Amino acid sequence: MKVVIDAAVCDGKGYCKRFAPEVFGLDEWGYGKVLVDEVPPEHMAGAEAAVEACPLQAIRTV
Ligand code: SF4
Repeated sequence: MKVVIDAAVCDGKGYCKRFAPEVFGLDEWGYGKVLVDEVPPEHMAGAEAAVEACPLQAIRTV
């Protein structure tokens, strides 16, 4: 599974990073950033929780 953040939608509150810090970080402007090419199996649950937690539905899985 891959995750993609829509930069035009993200407002940078960082919930994604809180739910899955191995998968999501924040860029230099404080917006969400995907850290991995493929989500490792052990971080799948956290990544899915981040998708659910994003208040703007800015994260999608591909
Ligand atoms: S939770 Fe959503 S809106 Fe917040 S930083 Fe992450 S992708 Fe952006």
